[in-house]
Amino acid sequence: MPFLPYYDHIDPGQGGSSMVIPEWPKPVLDRTEVFACQVCGEIFSSYEDRFQHRFEAHPYPRPLLVLGTQEVNTPRFVITTALSAEEIRPVNAAACRLDGKLVTARALARHIAVARSGFFKVELIGAGGKISVDYEISVEIASDEHAVLVEQEFARLYSPGGVSVASISTFIRATVKARTAQRYVEGLAAYLYGILAKDQRGETTLSQEQGRARLNEASQMLLEIDRPLAVVVAGIVSFQSNAFSRSERLSAVPRLLAAMRWFDSVRTRGLVIPVARPDGYAAPNARVPLDGATDEILAWMDLPAARLRDLAKQIGKRSQQDDWLPEDRIKAKVLLAAIHESEGDVANAAEVARSFRHDPVFSRLAERLISEGKESSQ
Ligand SMILES: [Zn+2]
Repeated sequence: MPFLPYYDHIDPGQGGSSMVIPEWPKPVLDRTEVFACQVCGEIFSSYEDRFQHRFEAHPYPRPLLVLGTQEVNTPRFVITTALSAEEIRPVNAAACRLDGKLVTARALARHIAVARSGFFKVELIGAGGKISVDYEISVEIASDEHAVLVEQEFARLYSPGGVSVASISTFIRATVKARTAQRYVEGLAAYLYGILAKDQRGETTLSQEQGRARLNEASQMLLEIDRPLAVVVAGIVSFQSNAFSRSERLSAVPRLLAAMRWFDSVRTRGLVIPVARPDGYAAPNARVPLDGATDEILAWMDLPAARLRDLAKQIGKRSQQDDWLPEDRIKAKVLLAAIHESEGDVANAAEVARSFRHDPVFSRLAERLISEGKESSQ
């Protein structure tokens, strides 16, 4: 079973909550933190600047609670990462109620920010009192001790025998004591069940489709947990589901980051660029189990261009293979089209592009290659 190496001692965010292993040399990585607008993608250098831009550039009509990077659009929400009072913001709210009592926005934020566990009813009332939005906010922040226990047990899954339904059960049983980190456990277990189903191995009884649902659940739970392992696993799910713009905070896993950035650039510009290869890193000190297709795609992207061309036939085969999910077949097609284009074979690049012209992620690339194919044949 393949495993993806990463650095578990790199603090991917601003918090000091990541596990630091001092005896490992710190690799030099690009750690500049950027804040992307979730609506238009524009990049800002601070949380505050992005926040200002978000509601000035893209007006939002209703009262809304913003928690960290999340705009809470559901009636129930679980906070699993400690937030500062500045990151808890009611928007478009003329008045706020907390557990039925009228409070100022600032008091609401302070009250929730100091809680490590608990349950709050929040009501935001718009100007004129016409619209009000109700939330039930549950705070379940894992203690460092519990999170570390979960990570240690997760690391035990790295074995030549690989992961199976039985080893996932062992992992869940071993982490029962980590009471405050149960959402972390659930998210990681959903990921593991998801990749077994995706690969149809390890005694899974789930279909590939059910596995995909598990992976999405995992990503939703883990995106909210500020631990390097959670960030890496959520990043893998983003890659699996072709959500390439979500590459923030992936510096702990350079191979994945390089692949995400390549596909994202192809997606947004419709142009094929050389894959940037990270070099000069210290050896990674942790590993995450990976599904076969993701492992193979990441391995292709690690190769020099000439070696990748030799694999065109294999990549073409994968792009048609029934037991690969559509998202992975599309990635193989995009790589194949890129290989043809880099060889100056415009006709074949256009031919491959026709098979993904309706893909919502890569339609821009497809249209360009198809029209260039037409021009060259005239
Ligand atoms: Zn924007």
